[in-house]
Amino acid sequence: MRLLRECCSGCAYCVMVCPQNALATDGWAYLLPERCTDCNMCYYACPHRCFVPDKELRPLRHNIAPHYDVLIIGAGIGGLMTAAALARRGRRVAVFEQLSFPGGRYTELSYRGSAVTTAAWTSLGPKSHIGRFLAELGIGQNPEGDSVRYVSLRDIGLREQYAIRFPDGRHYASLQQMLPSEVYRAWMRAVVRGRRSVPGDVSAHDYIASFCPDNDLLAVVDAVAITASGVSSQAMPAREFIQIVLDSAAAGTDFAMPAGGVAAIIEALVHTLKVHGGELYLGSRVQRILLTQGEARGIELADGRQITGNIVVHNAGPSALIRLLGSDNVPPAYRTRLQSLKGVECAAIFFATREPLFEDAPILMTPGCQRVAGIFSPTRFDPSLSRDGLHLYDAFLPLHSADRKAELALALNDLHRLFPNLDTVLAWLLPMFFTDGWPGTETAQIFGQTGQQRLETRTPVPGLYLVGMDVQGSGVAGDLIPLGVRRLLDEIE
Ligand SMILES: Cc1cc2nc3c(=O)[nH]c(=O)nc-3n(C[C@H](O)[C@H](O)[C@H](O)COP(=O)(O)OP(=O)(O)OC[C@H]3O[C@@H](n4cnc5c(N)ncnc54)[C@H](O)[C@@H]3O)c2cc1C
Ligand code: SF4
Ligand code: SF4
Repeated sequence: MRLLRECCSGCAYCVMVCPQNALATDGWAYLLPERCTDCNMCYYACPHRCFVPDKELRPLRHNIAPHYDVLIIGAGIGGLMTAAALARRGRRVAVFEQLSFPGGRYTELSYRGSAVTTAAWTSLGPKSHIGRFLAELGIGQNPEGDSVRYVSLRDIGLREQYAIRFPDGRHYASLQQMLPSEVYRAWMRAVVRGRRSVPGDVSAHDYIASFCPDNDLLAVVDAVAITASGVSSQAMPAREFIQIVLDSAAAGTDFAMPAGGVAAIIEALVHTLKVHGGELYLGSRVQRILLTQGEARGIELADGRQITGNIVVHNAGPSALIRLLGSDNVPPAYRTRLQSLKGVECAAIFFATREPLFEDAPILMTPGCQRVAGIFSPTRFDPSLSRDGLHLYDAFLPLHSADRKAELALALNDLHRLFPNLDTVLAWLLPMFFTDGWPGTETAQIFGQTGQQRLETRTPVPGLYLVGMDVQGSGVAGDLIPLGVRRLLDEIE
């Protein structure tokens, strides 16, 4: 196997799936050729086709029908929610996914005996948009195989979603504990007033500062904005920030993670899709959307096979959309709009320790760090995510430069300041970057790209629809995806 390092966006999926530990990453994946057995698993786990097999690749040739009612490109959570809902309504649905696993950036892979997320940490729980959408699909707390069992804060005896730790060692169990009472009251006023109305052109930072110009609070606001969406509080509109705070507050002590991680949601959606006759084709990269007289009427797979459909739903992001349609087939104004979108590049350090690093909340906000903004502990909800009884942590950071090694060094420095005993308890760590063609998101929650300013479900190409992270909606990252899926379901009903 050869690795084209220059194509690598740093996601580390190949490192996780390699059964021989023949891959590692320092921000860019690298290969230890003496360990490689040419099993080709990395080939099908890489979103960028960075791997060139030495031995002839045995293609996954599924038996695919020539026609479906609905063709869905991408088995991210957006594509799978759409697929499961449409299959349940009696449509013949086929989902085509380039990778060897479903879920895209919203699932877990097994690495060193632990479940490591491909990006997303949690869904907020049964009261979230995703939780309610699943319930409408009949996916709930039932034992019938398509269940998602949540573990909530209340279940594990906690009250706060996040604690706060500064790199100088100050630790607070809650925002209320951190702030003097008059500042806390001003913060609450800002949120309550924000529920009614916030001017559209004010940043989260400036809005909160106008109520309570407390430096520690403003640092926490920044950490929350970055952790929720990868965007600083100066870049994020106040409206979006307030929506995120309200959505989190609505979850309250029902704030939860699915037992087994977010992969449990993906498994339940795939189960629902299949029970209702739908198909999921893994390792099946779409290379073209087929147009007939300007209408989307099919897809072409990388192996050249063509499949027709009454409609095509695209879950693979705005830049892939231009590529799959062919630039000349995208109406110029729409092409300009797609190309103008500013995404978020970010990173995470997933790590395992032998001792817990914090226990009073599942999330630790880390204001005042150079890079790390928040750290989530999935094993605080579900210890079985680590087979070896380790404590798992996912530290989230925005990227300020393209030098992944330098960004990683700054983030590791933050972790050492936050946890002075880190080296003595650390079992392993895995850096994961979300850059280039596999970014955190392709549409950032910044001015001009929030709420209704995001892309519509309907595209200017008849028969072609969009679902996923880049479609209209406000709130916490992936949790806004069902809002767009609902609109799609209404439109094609
Ligand atoms: C570090 C990080 C942490 C996050 N944490 C959270 C969180 O805690 N909670 C939350 O709600 N959200 C979180 N998010 C955001 C969340 O991960 C995304 O919003 C969500 O996963 C996006 O889902 P999607 O369906 O839009 O796209 P994706 O997950 O990107 O799915 C698109 C799918 O399309 C496939 N595809 C692409 N091109 C093709 C092709 N040509 N042919 C076939 N298939 C193709 C891809 O392989 C992929 O599987 C986080 C994101 C990051 C980066
Ligand atoms: S071909 Fe198999 S053994 Fe070799 S690097 Fe890829 S996943 Fe690892
Ligand atoms: S893009 Fe991801 S899967 Fe591909 S080589 Fe780089 S780290 Fe590995």
